[in-house]
Amino acid sequence: MDCLFCAIVEGSIPSKKAYEDDKMLAFYDINPQAPVHILVIPKEHISSVDGINDENSAIIAAIFEKIPAIAKEAGITNGYRVVSNCGDDAHQTVKHLHFHILGGQRLEGRMA
Ligand code: AMP
Ligand code: ZN
Repeated sequence: MDCLFCAIVEGSIPSKKAYEDDKMLAFYDINPQAPVHILVIPKEHISSVDGINDENSAIIAAIFEKIPAIAKEAGITNGYRVVSNCGDDAHQTVKHLHFHILGGQRLEGRMA
């Protein structure tokens, strides 16, 4: 399967890592949309939020348990937004589930 984020997990495409363990990888977005912009992904390929199910939801819980520490370690002190674009209307461009952590500035009040 030709998947950019699976290639980042394998290390064949480099990334600036923010956190890694056996289940997940967090790395800095190549085109940041905020002073701190990190992507957190499951190492296992899941296509999007639509691909979350009984079999893999423990990894999603683990990701959300870790997000506060990842944000803090990256220097975010005054709040942040967690976003996952799912499908075409949401402009999901990489079909491997990822959670954007955006922070380091006052963000827009509206999300859409
Ligand atoms: P989305 O539009 O929600 O699918 O988000 C995909 C994100 O991946 C975008 O914010 C891109 O800037 C980011 N991205 C694409 N390629 C890379 C890469 N090689 N390393 C880090 N981030 C990337
Ligand atoms: Zn993948």
